[in-house]
Amino acid sequence: MNLVLFGPPGSGKGTQADRIKDRARLMHISTGDLLRAAVAAGSELGRKVEGILSAGELVSDDIVLALIKEAVGAVAESEEYSGWILDGFPRTLGQASGLDSLLDAAGQKMDSVVVLEVDRDEIMKRLLSRARGDDNPETISNRLDVYEAQTKPILDYYEGRVTIHRIDGAQTMDEVTADIERSLA
Ligand code: ADP
Repeated sequence: MNLVLFGPPGSGKGTQADRIKDRARLMHISTGDLLRAAVAAGSELGRKVEGILSAGELVSDDIVLALIKEAVGAVAESEEYSGWILDGFPRTLGQASGLDSLLDAAGQKMDSVVVLEVDRDEIMKRLLSRARGDDNPETISNRLDVYEAQTKPILDYYEGRVTIHRIDGAQTMDEVTADIERSLA
């Protein structure tokens, strides 16, 4: 099973991906985690993207598509995983169509998109209490604007092509997990 977990920053994608990945031996692929790991390692990629992450801007499509290509390829070759959950990707229409081409070329397909819906006030509250390096009011507000302008339109692109499950992400973590599992059953 191959899934995309979709939703604004702070909607709980990372938490929920961690909870559902084991049920079907899915690899949790988070572009945010991959980019933060590159920054922490001080690699060439890390130095390139550090400022972009701390401003809450988007890293270029080429960079994240290369990360995804590598991760999805690794899943295909592994015996450990039977599929993937993408978290934080795609974030632009260019990434969504790049993903389609990449999957076509690899003979893979996406089974469904799970959308975690949470309103802006709740997100501000959650992210301000999480206090990661890029969780300050200015950066959060920029990330939310970027989500509205560049990421949300991807749902229109997927409408009619992929099964979309909409989940109320403002419920308790356990309720959200249960709803996701029900939607995928
Ligand atoms: P959040 O969803 O809470 O904003 P993420 O961990 O998904 O957190 O992303 C953190 C940052 O990493 C983003 O603000 C952006 O700078 C960068 N990033 C992550 N995924 C992508 C992507 N698919 N395309 C471009 N930039 C990305």
